[in-house]
Amino acid sequence: MEDCLFCRIITGEIPSNKVYEDEFVYAFTDIDPKAPVHILIIPKKHLKSILEVKDGDFEYIDAMIKAAQKIAAEKGIAADGFRLVFNTGENGGQTVPHLHLHLLGGRYLEWPPG
Ligand code: IMP
Repeated sequence: MEDCLFCRIITGEIPSNKVYEDEFVYAFTDIDPKAPVHILIIPKKHLKSILEVKDGDFEYIDAMIKAAQKIAAEKGIAADGFRLVFNTGENGGQTVPHLHLHLLGGRYLEWPPG
């Protein structure tokens, strides 16, 4: 999708601070971090949100979760804990319509969210 911000980040058309990439996913630091570690893990297939994930797309979800495990270990936040979030739709606070998994950590995260 040529007009999608995150698709353009995957192609490199828009610069990003890449932390991980494989066949299925791309991960980069959030431009407006909400925690000391705040990384976005996105599928290389344009899916608008978790609601659009169908049979056949789950290899992307598997890869996103595996990437989160790897990145959390590499960033040294696995032992203390971290949070994975799929904001979905307006009430969920989703602002970019390309599926993304927030990986947040490096401090104690309050619950519930505001
Ligand atoms: P959402 O609000 O769950 O849709 O998350 C979108 C995230 O994308 C927000 O945390 C933004 O700070 C982040 N973001 C928006 N534009 C960019 C960018 O160009 N580079 C990196 N992160 C971005």
